[in-house]
Amino acid sequence: MSIEKFSVEKVLLVHRWTNTLFSFTMTRPAHFKFTAGQFARIGLMVDGELVVRAYSVVSSPFDETLEFFSIVVPEGAFTSNLQHLKVGDELYLEKISYGYLTLARYQQPLPKDLWLLATGTGLAPFLSMLQDFETWNKYQHINLVYSVRTASELAYVERIQEIAATFGEGHSGFQFVPIITRDPNAKLHDRLPILIANGELEKAVGLTFDPATSHVMLCGNPQMVDDTKEALKQRGLTMNRRGEGNIAVENYW
Ligand code: NAP
Repeated sequence: MSIEKFSVEKVLLVHRWTNTLFSFTMTRPAHFKFTAGQFARIGLMVDGELVVRAYSVVSSPFDETLEFFSIVVPEGAFTSNLQHLKVGDELYLEKISYGYLTLARYQQPLPKDLWLLATGTGLAPFLSMLQDFETWNKYQHINLVYSVRTASELAYVERIQEIAATFGEGHSGFQFVPIITRDPNAKLHDRLPILIANGELEKAVGLTFDPATSHVMLCGNPQMVDDTKEALKQRGLTMNRRGEGNIAVENYW
């Protein structure tokens, strides 16, 4: 990994949601451009070696700083070091951004209903998209569905309300739908593929998955992505290829 590909950035803020979930914000160099939904490659020096991981950007492309949302992977070389991050620390940022989980990829069907389905830290790219006015202008309905194990892992809930109030002002088609899979008393508590197959998700939202109008983005647990993709295909939706089709995905680890 050539170090010239990276710039050195400073940590400006660290926010801890739980023992294993945290967010951090760092300086953004002028050369770092990205589209909402893309990811950055962040490096840490571990025992004199640069260790690099991909992180979707939470911030909007118009922000002056860069925010990321992370889980601590037990015994993971990267996050077990990253979790001790403090304001003022230095991180390496690869100069270019990556990824195709962007709204620009959709040509057909035309934008009408947007479903953003996340598990855990897979929420990040959707927060970026929701902080882009273009997203709100393009879609009549926007459903942000966020599955976590326990209520304490529901990070960013207040920010989501603030983002919807600011960026979606005057937009009446936004719904935030939390799923808490290990709380049997939660309104929605089954895994996403089950909630799609049995129609409960559509019932909760009041909208159906429709091959003619739905853009569905999946981000998070790779097994969730696979299983949910299959559940959506059963409903007649297709993978988005060369601009056409309903489903776009990003595995998160
Ligand atoms: P998670 O296990 O991904 O669970 C988050 C949500 O996804 C829960 O609601 C969970 O439901 C649901 N889910 C899990 N598998 C699913 C599937 N096949 N279909 C549908 N929904 C599914 O939890 P997490 O806390 O985000 O991550 C857990 C572990 O994943 C971490 O401890 C870490 O080892 C690894 N991870 C690694 C990275 C990385 O960058 N290397 C990033 C994130 C996570 P249930 O409650 O039913 O399981």
